[in-house]
Amino acid sequence: MAFTIVIKHLESDGKNYEGEIPEEELDLRLHDELLHPSGPLQYRLWIEKHEENLLLQGELSQIYRCECARCLKSFEYEATICDWHGFVALEGEESLPINNDTVDLTAVLREDILLVLPQHPVCGQDCQGMVSQVDSAAVSDDEVEATGSSPWAALDDLKLENDKD
Ligand SMILES: [Zn+2]
Repeated sequence: MAFTIVIKHLESDGKNYEGEIPEEELDLRLHDELLHPSGPLQYRLWIEKHEENLLLQGELSQIYRCECARCLKSFEYEATICDWHGFVALEGEESLPINNDTVDLTAVLREDILLVLPQHPVCGQDCQGMVSQVDSAAVSDDEVEATGSSPWAALDDLKLENDKD
């Protein structure tokens, strides 16, 4: 089910909405091979109508299965926005289409959960990258530099520079 609300339900007062949008309804179109949704987008929201606008606030979260950009290990990532605020216009150029007094808010939630996904998912801060560099072709170009030398080598370089002073 997409996330739709009936506008007249909000005429007198705000209302709580809690539920989930299945990943197939979200239409995420992720172009990142390292990120795959592994569950629905869950929402817990308080929605108020102020004149011809909806104000949304609450929490969004969704579990993703990621592949580490450095070592390609698979791990779970929970994308969460704890104090989310959304704004939806019901009139004017930026407004969402209204059918039978019902408006679909799925896209609004989708756009914001996309913003908190990691650009380069990494399994952990201490990830050492690929143990063997044989498979380095699988790592995208902009990651090669980061994984090419160990963090210790970079640290040694720093120390050497400091010693010169
Ligand atoms: Zn890793």
